[in-house]
Amino acid sequence: MKNSKEFRSWLDGMNLGHPLTIAGPCSAESREQVLETARRLTGGRVTVFRAGVWKPRTKPGNFEGVGEIALPWLMEVKKETGLEPFIEVATPYHVETALKHGINMMWIGARTSANPFAVQEIAEALKGNKEVIMLIKNPVNPDLSLWIGAVERIFRAGITNLGVIHRGFSVYQQTPYRNKPKWQIPLNFKRTYPDIPMIIDPSHICGRRDCIFEIAQMALDLQYDGVMIESHYNPDEAWSDANQQITPEALHDIIKRLIVRKPEAEEDIYRNKINEFRRHIDIIDDQLLELLSERMRVVRNIGKLKRMQNISLLQPGRWNDILEKVVEFAEKNQMSEEFIRAVYTAIHEESLWQQKNGKKIEED
Ligand code: PEP
Ligand code: MN
Repeated sequence: MKNSKEFRSWLDGMNLGHPLTIAGPCSAESREQVLETARRLTGGRVTVFRAGVWKPRTKPGNFEGVGEIALPWLMEVKKETGLEPFIEVATPYHVETALKHGINMMWIGARTSANPFAVQEIAEALKGNKEVIMLIKNPVNPDLSLWIGAVERIFRAGITNLGVIHRGFSVYQQTPYRNKPKWQIPLNFKRTYPDIPMIIDPSHICGRRDCIFEIAQMALDLQYDGVMIESHYNPDEAWSDANQQITPEALHDIIKRLIVRKPEAEEDIYRNKINEFRRHIDIIDDQLLELLSERMRVVRNIGKLKRMQNISLLQPGRWNDILEKVVEFAEKNQMSEEFIRAVYTAIHEESLWQQKNGKKIEED
């Protein structure tokens, strides 16, 4: 796939604002809810009005969207407020129906982008509609190639007004997030296709209201191109994702507090760059800590096993093998032998301590 400047320029050329600010309810529920929410979202930086019309639900029996009847409500929003309607499509029928009603901006959801068959069918249905703007959410599973593959399928259908949405990844463990951000994946996407606009969806990452600002600011510090936040005129009564939706007024407040760092502003170049690097380091440190704690968990299990078999804790042969391997790696990767020895000696000492004292710690 060619990586021309046209990707970012579509965003500026469309008069939708930079950073792109998308807001609206998780689902369209009624004409009144759609119009009232949209009216209250005007007057600030919001230029695009999102609303799910067909809802992919994890379990059957939940609200699955009102369907086609909502499309005229969205066109009414456009006429009355000027906000651009934006909906989720998952099948060729959704694409055709949206186009028939004059909807030109669509996203592919996280459950759909994980399925190449479905994405290919959507791509076929889009062929010949060059004016359409398509944003592709990351797949639910943390797979960068699958995400890139989905984008390439849409691009090959002749759609160049392309963007991506980072909405986090599902994980089995309990985490503070509904969907873990795993920032290294979108950052790798940006490295591969730096000119494709990247939008953050803090609502689906957080799953709750109180971390939306923090995730959105993090993304802007990492030079994302926009935000998409769920907003409902009466969030507590929303038919889907009630916990994460916020009122239009709360949304305006968040948008106002967000600091947008323009990469073009001369005097800000140094500050922006250093900020971006620091954010990157924070992400790597989080990963390092998670990996270290995972290593210690495994170590405690080894300790338990050794005790059961009555084997001594210290096995010098194994330790020497590890040291040899890490020193060789360090030399090839611009790190000194002294440094890596110090790091690994500390890890080894802690590991021995954990093996010995692991009895007191409950392990599965
Ligand atoms: C949505 O944006 O409402 C949605 C269903 O999102 P996702 O596909 O990210 O779960
Ligand atoms: Mn939602």
